Order: sequence, then C-alpha cells, then structure tokens
Amino acid sequence: MEGKLQQLKSHLSEITDLGLVNALLNWDQSTYMPPGGAKARGRQSALLARLAHEKLIDPSLGQLLEELSSHTKDLAFENDDASLIRVATRDHKQATNVPSSLMEAFYKHTAESYEAWTKARSENDFDTMKPYLEKTLEFSRQYAECFPGYDHIADPLINRADEGIKANDVKATFAALREQLVPLVKAISEKEPVDDSFLHLNFPEQQQMEFGIDVINDFGYDFNRGRQDKTHHPFCTKFSLGDVRITTRFQENYLGEGMFSTMHEAGHALYEQNVNMDFEGTPLASGTSSSAHESQSRLWENLVGRSLPFWNQYYPSLQKTFPDQLENVGVEEFYKAINKVSPSLIRTDADEVTYNLHVMIRFDLELDLLEGKLSIDDLPEAWNARYQSDLGVVAPNHVDGVLQDVHWFAFFIGGVFQGYTLGNVISVQLFDTALEQKPQIAQEIGQGKFDTLRCWMRDNVNQHGRKFTTNELLERATGRPLTIDSYINYLKKKYGEIYQL
Ligand code: ZN
Repeated sequence: MEGKLQQLKSHLSEITDLGLVNALLNWDQSTYMPPGGAKARGRQSALLARLAHEKLIDPSLGQLLEELSSHTKDLAFENDDASLIRVATRDHKQATNVPSSLMEAFYKHTAESYEAWTKARSENDFDTMKPYLEKTLEFSRQYAECFPGYDHIADPLINRADEGIKANDVKATFAALREQLVPLVKAISEKEPVDDSFLHLNFPEQQQMEFGIDVINDFGYDFNRGRQDKTHHPFCTKFSLGDVRITTRFQENYLGEGMFSTMHEAGHALYEQNVNMDFEGTPLASGTSSSAHESQSRLWENLVGRSLPFWNQYYPSLQKTFPDQLENVGVEEFYKAINKVSPSLIRTDADEVTYNLHVMIRFDLELDLLEGKLSIDDLPEAWNARYQSDLGVVAPNHVDGVLQDVHWFAFFIGGVFQGYTLGNVISVQLFDTALEQKPQIAQEIGQGKFDTLRCWMRDNVNQHGRKFTTNELLERATGRPLTIDSYINYLKKKYGEIYQL
C-alpha cells in the first residue's frame, strides 16, 4: 500500500507542479513581461494547462485512487492520507465528468468573448456582447449537465469554487442578509455624508508602498517566502508554499486604494503561507475555496485594517508619513472616512455595507439566467431595476452597468460571485470565535500585535489547506454551520456608531 501511495503522490506532484509553473508564467505576464511576449505566452500557458489536464484525467490515476480508497477507508476522516485520496478523487472525477472537447470549445469561446468585451466596453456596446453571452450561458448549462443529480443547475458551477455549497442555501443566506442590509443602507443614506475629501489629496506612491509594507510585515506576511509587485489588478499567487507572492496598485490621488488592496492580498497570502508544509506538492497545499480565501483577505483588510483600534496604533506613523495631507485630520475623522458608506454603481469600489448588495444582484441574475427565467435581451433592464430597488442608483450606461465585471465575459455564468459575500460573512464568524477563545486579540490589535490572531487562523483554518470543505472547516473552527448573525451584528454595531443610527 505504501508503494501505491508513493506512486499517487508522485503523479499528483507532477500535476501540481505543472499548475504552479503556469502560475509563474501568469504572474510574469501581469507584472514584467513586455507586450511582445503575449502570443507565445498564451501558447505556452495553454500547453501546460493541457498537460496538467491530461495527467488529471489519466485512467491509471483513477484506478490508483480507487485501489487506495478501498484500502484506506478505515482511516479517520481528518487523516492526511485519507484526505489526500478524498480530495484527489474529487478533482479527478470533476475533470473526467466533463468531455475535454467541451472545455476546449469553451476556452476558445471565452478567449473570443473576453476580447470582444474589452472592445465593447470602450464603446458602451451591449448588443455586440449578446450572442457571446447567449453562447456562454449555453456552455454553462452544458457544464452543469455533466453532473446529473444536482439540486440546482448552478450547483456544479458553484462546486468549482466552493465545494459542497448549494445554490439554494446561498439563496436563503442572501435573502436573509438582504432583508437586513437594504434598510441599513437606507438609514445611513439619510444621515449627513461623511467627509473623506482628505483621502483624495496627493499621496506619493513610494511612501504609500513603504507604509503598506510595514503594515503587512506586522500582520506576519513573510517576505522571505514572498514578494510584492505592482499590477493593474491586484492578486495573490503561489509557486510553492515557500513562494507566495502578492501584487498591488496605487492611486496617488486616493490613499485608500493601495493601502487596502495591499492588506487584502496579504490576507490571501497569509492563508497560503500558513498551509501545512507537509502538503507541499499535493492538491491539499492550497486554500480550500473562494469563500474561505475571501474570509481571510477580508479579515485582514476590514476587521483589522478598517478598525479603530488598529488606527489608534498606526495613525501617528501614517500622519508622519504624510504630514502635509493629514496633520489636521484626527484619527476618528480618518476612521470614519475610510469607512464611508455611499451607494454607488461599481462593485469593486463599494464600501463594506453596500458591497454585498452588488454581489447579490449578480448572483440572483445569474441564477435567473441559468433557470431560464431571464433572457440575455432583458438582462440590462433587470440589472438596472435591481440597482434602483437595492441601492437607489441606476447606471447611466452599460459600462457602469451590465458590462462592468469581467466574470460573465471571460468565464461561466454562475459559480463565482457568491464567494465574495460568503467570505465576508465567514470572516466575522471566524473572527468572533477567535475573540471568544483568545479575548486578548482585541487589545493586541490596538498595540500592533497580530501573532495571536494569525496563529488562531493558522491552527483553525489555514494549516488544513484543502483537507476540509468550507462547511466542514467552519463547523470545526467555530462549532456552528454558516450563520449571518455575527456578520449582521458586526455591521450594525460598527456603522451604528459611525453614523449614530
Ligand atoms: Zn480577494
């Protein structure tokens, strides 16, 4: 059996390495590659993806997994080898269920759709994108049909990013959340708007960068096993557990952009840097899902980085960094400005309170599309109607409306957006449990000490990699299934104080 297990691990490590080398090509493409490299890079990247896919669907791997499963079925669920076999079996089945020809045709289509979208955006042209979206919707349904027995047609799509989470559960969670959020946003809108004009003065990039590096160093991001570079769209990527990189971007006329992007991506990176080193080279060596990952980025960005205790500690050094811009701004004033709530059109610029409404609109619309309740023709109108009812704003054009996000134009329709809001909800559920078990965390944040919080996340979440699904992880870490209670309490308390509701 030991021989077979070694055979499995060496097969899986080749698949893993092909994926990680591909990630390195993508990182290079987004950071330093000259434009002339694009064509060859696309070909090289596709080759690595194909080789990894072929190894993953290899029937000999299926056979090996079957033999090992029957011999290791008596092992405990949390045993590392049992988990490896369980997760690898899932990956293998997920890949083999879908004909390679379908995925090849889909990737060809999304490359064309993405290119058309970049042009359509610059011309505010939704009509050109309609046939692409029709085809994407058809591909999304075909993908789902490869997994018969689902409860909801979106389930197989959601499973790709958030294993085990069901569309109907997300719907119920979101409905309950929306019921609380819409009145909260309305109540805040009726209050005097917060002044954040001083965040929009000129803040030289170099100083912003240095301040951000100091903060994430304190969080515990390990620069000996990572680095930070600039990109158009910030992201976190990994080439091994010893090399977890982040990227960020700055706006010299808005301090919030660089600061919170940096903290957000460092949160993702802390997850990957704290995965159990024994999992290196296996499919267990990574964060378990989109929502679990987003819970970690949001935790460091919002629960720590947008909190008053944090700024009581860090604001004096920020003021010293930018004396001309901030010397007359008090810490309370600064805290309110970085937490300003204002219903807007753009998801990625949204504040903590309205952000989830943007996500829910997209999630509901994509379910309607998949269920056949909504046609692509009627999509812009449905989009605007929901923005009007939930946020009280309507896009003056398609670019700030239905053409806004890349997701539907470069991937499936369905399966991605829910992770952003579930991540927010999970972040507070985990944080509250950490505070119950280690009450000193609250005080330590106000002293610029993050070891207790980081170690709690490492021990209860990060180290497990992909051993457990999001739901399993949450039950183990918090003793409860997913609940919106902690999250709603957090928002009501924080924003109730800021806006005196
Ligand atoms: Zn993120």
